[in-house]
Amino acid sequence: MTLSLYDSRTQSVRAFEPLVSGQVGIYLCGPTVQGLPHVGHLRSALVYDQLRRWLSAKGMQVTLVRNVTDIDDKVLENAKITGEQWWALAYRYELEFNKAYGALGITPPTYEPRATAAIPEMLDLIARLIAAGYAYAAEDGSANVYFAANKWAKYGELTNQRIEDMESTEDADPRGKRHPQDFALWKAHKSGEPESASWNSVYGVGRPGWHIECSAMATKYLGSKFDIHGGGLDLRFPHHENELAQSLAAGDEFANYWLHNGLVNVAGQKMSKSLGNSIFAADLLDSARPLAVRYYLGSAHYRSVLDYHEGVLDEAESAMARIETFIDRASRRLAGTRFLKQLGEDLLAVLPAAFIKAMDEDLAIPSALAAVHESVRSGNAGIDNEDLEVVADSLVAVLAMTQILGIDPTSSYWSAGKSSEQDVAMDALIQALIAERNAARASKDFARSDAIRDQLKAAGITLEDAADSTHWSVN
Ligand SMILES: [Zn+2]
Repeated sequence: MTLSLYDSRTQSVRAFEPLVSGQVGIYLCGPTVQGLPHVGHLRSALVYDQLRRWLSAKGMQVTLVRNVTDIDDKVLENAKITGEQWWALAYRYELEFNKAYGALGITPPTYEPRATAAIPEMLDLIARLIAAGYAYAAEDGSANVYFAANKWAKYGELTNQRIEDMESTEDADPRGKRHPQDFALWKAHKSGEPESASWNSVYGVGRPGWHIECSAMATKYLGSKFDIHGGGLDLRFPHHENELAQSLAAGDEFANYWLHNGLVNVAGQKMSKSLGNSIFAADLLDSARPLAVRYYLGSAHYRSVLDYHEGVLDEAESAMARIETFIDRASRRLAGTRFLKQLGEDLLAVLPAAFIKAMDEDLAIPSALAAVHESVRSGNAGIDNEDLEVVADSLVAVLAMTQILGIDPTSSYWSAGKSSEQDVAMDALIQALIAERNAARASKDFARSDAIRDQLKAAGITLEDAADSTHWSVN
């Protein structure tokens, strides 16, 4: 395999070799469903969708697991505020996340486990940690169980920190905790929390800590050693550090590669609840076509910060429009000619070398997009020069590249329900003008036919005449 990926654990770009030839297992930290999805959630899910699509294009069989954290302090707090059952609130937000992921063409995970459906596996992992001497039940009988961070010599290896330098963990409930860095594996039930948010265990009634959830779910679905663990940069510490420590301490080999995606800034500022500058999924999807939103969210390198500011969606719209106009023009020019090619199953065969190189080099999406636009440019030049061979090659290349990036505008995914009532109304008006222009031309009233063309042009609409039809497009 020629793919290389930046592994956060070794802090180096490593050649990617799957554990089992031809198969790749990926675990992604999914959302804690306590509120609405924002742009950061979408970007994180999307960059791993790009990775998954690239691995699939390279012939890998990918198993992607993305969990849902449906039990958490915040879920309980927010449910108290709204007066809902905590599980009803969690499910309501889970649906919002799925709606947003779906709108952006993010392929659903192979498996999407909810934390509350893997409690036995979490308790099993906790028992193994206690048996190995790396975890302890609080001696005050509170039912809290903690991971003994100072017992695990490699604690801090993922984020390259020494335990002495770390901040103490902010456990809401420090009852029976021995050291400041110890973190909760099992949280004792507290009075005031609903009965339904607690489970029986040998330590007493409680619920799982966040970190143990992901360790248990990852190995439940992917085995004790798997290929890739991914998530946002904000999850590296303490969440991923703790996942790694407890899984290794329990004897699992866990993830072979750790990938972290960069966060989203808003106009150069970190997005945060306290600043009130959060961009929610619904805001984005209201401001532009989902296809353009996807283009924008997937346009930066996955490890860089993606900045959201005025105009970014317009830029994405124009970039997509250039691609769409070319596909449209090329398809019409090639229709019925011997040059027209069908895009087969083997996408790799028609990809430009620059695109393959970019994707293989730690998913250098900006360079991959440059390859798309380069093919669009040469294809357009081919149309202008009547070099239909070039047009045909460029067309299949653009279709294959956009398919891999999940932005193929011809995919039925994007066109389903695409025509809005406004589109239909506009098409009716323009078709009437085209018919009038054709009639004027037939009667050699060129002043009138030119006037109609100019009128449309002034409105930003271009006409292109083919042998027996006229096509219109918005500039
Ligand atoms: Zn996680």
